[in-house]
Amino acid sequence: MITEKLKTDRENYAGTVARAAEILKNGGTAAIPTETVYGLAASACDAEAVKKIFAAKGRPQDNPLIVHISNMEMLKRVACDIPESAIRCAEKFWPGPLTMIFKRTGYTADSVSAGLDTVAVRMPNHKTALDIIEKADLPLAAPSANTSGSPSPTTALHVQADLDGKIDAIVYDGECAVGVESTVISFCCEPPRILRPGAVTPEQLREIIPDVTVDKAVLSKPRDDERVASPGMKYKHYAPKTDCFLVEGESDAFAEFVNGQKNAVAVCFFEESDGIKIHKLIYGKKSDESTLAHELFAVLRKVDRSGADKAYIHAPSKKGVGLAVYNRLIRAAGFKVIKL
Ligand code: AMP
Ligand code: MG
Repeated sequence: MITEKLKTDRENYAGTVARAAEILKNGGTAAIPTETVYGLAASACDAEAVKKIFAAKGRPQDNPLIVHISNMEMLKRVACDIPESAIRCAEKFWPGPLTMIFKRTGYTADSVSAGLDTVAVRMPNHKTALDIIEKADLPLAAPSANTSGSPSPTTALHVQADLDGKIDAIVYDGECAVGVESTVISFCCEPPRILRPGAVTPEQLREIIPDVTVDKAVLSKPRDDERVASPGMKYKHYAPKTDCFLVEGESDAFAEFVNGQKNAVAVCFFEESDGIKIHKLIYGKKSDESTLAHELFAVLRKVDRSGADKAYIHAPSKKGVGLAVYNRLIRAAGFKVIKL
């Protein structure tokens, strides 16, 4: 299959939105930008189109997809039993990096929810994405546009590296501002529970839902026989091919530890990089977790290009969006943590 390359510079923008919407309405697949990561979109109402997403990504069939909407009327089409607290979250965080899980109506294909009676919904804060959804007038199922298990794509070139020739189109639209996937919260339990951390933090959600909880799978490895609330949490995920380790400790101890390693690459903070004498990749500022989120997946892709046998990644704090970065890294490292 030849993947159409659609540009979003000023003279091509309207044509790209119209073409992407046409492909999606006709049951095709298109990678689209969002503020979190690039998504691989297809009509959420078309079971055949949804099958193409799972096939292109090599995604396990039991891992449900997030439905992307552009207005509140679409939310009512796809979900029901929406509590008042969720409406307040929508008012505060939408459009934005928050996915909310509700009981589903049956408007979307069963395969989108991987057989569950719930549906995950998000309104992305990205003009191109919103314009495409609006033009197609369809809720779009859109998981991250990467090969399943590999680091998520934060540029169209990352998408191209994984999916060129496997999907109908890629919309080229620069870097994603946030860099990690949305926060996922379920309203199908009482109290509501955060299943995946993202840029909307537990602290922010607590202002609207004081008793919100954080699922234990966020920071720990589920047992093989354990049923996890969010099926995506059980897979080794976001992982480069290089053997990765998450390293916890102060900057001096981290530098001393990695400087003694051979054939290794260190993934470190800007503030400590001078002390690191082996091959290093800087993934942002220790003092600003949002910079780490922004670079995280690009750095994990660079780890594989470094040629090193092992990567030692300095663990961020779990504050704010740092929790989301930590959650992705511990999975990239297959839960191998070194405490200094
Ligand atoms: P991705 O599309 O790659 O961002 O992954 C979507 C995440 O949302 C995965 O971790 C899914 O398991 C989770 N998810 C989507 N729909 C549901 C649902 N109905 N119930 C629980 N988790 C869901
Ligand atoms: Mg994903």
